[in-house]
Amino acid sequence: MKISKNTVVTLEYTLKDQNGEVWETSQGDEPWVYLHGHGGIIPGLEPELIGKQAGDKFSKTLEPEQAYGPYEPDLANSVPRSAFVDIDNLAEGLRLSAQAEDGSTHTVTVTKVTEDTVTVDANHPMAGQSVVVDVEVKDVRPATPEELSHGHAHASGSCH
Ligand SMILES: [Zn+2]
Repeated sequence: MKISKNTVVTLEYTLKDQNGEVWETSQGDEPWVYLHGHGGIIPGLEPELIGKQAGDKFSKTLEPEQAYGPYEPDLANSVPRSAFVDIDNLAEGLRLSAQAEDGSTHTVTVTKVTEDTVTVDANHPMAGQSVVVDVEVKDVRPATPEELSHGHAHASGSCH
């Protein structure tokens, strides 16, 4: 079966930056399962997968716009260090969950720590970077009616 809209796809993937540094991989973890054609994967990867089938492997370089978006300087903010007193492992590179005024949470990365201030950056760590993705398609099957009504794959046969 070939990948098209409303198929459930199982794949192994590895995301690397331009220097070949691995950012994320499914190797040694569960393969990624998703419902094709409903978002949920890197935008630039979706069209590449159409027509592929189990056993197909490919590698693709995605521009920032097709991956995690451009880097937005406005998303980096300097905050008084006193706001972080209860975090004992504060260091550059630390990722924190931050709550916005509307109650939504997002992940920020600590990019700079000085005596008085901490810079937190809400850009995705791969924003502004080209991403190299290695993909191996493991399985393609039709979505169940339940999956279609939920708009996502049920990897283990049930919802989450
Ligand atoms: Zn569901």
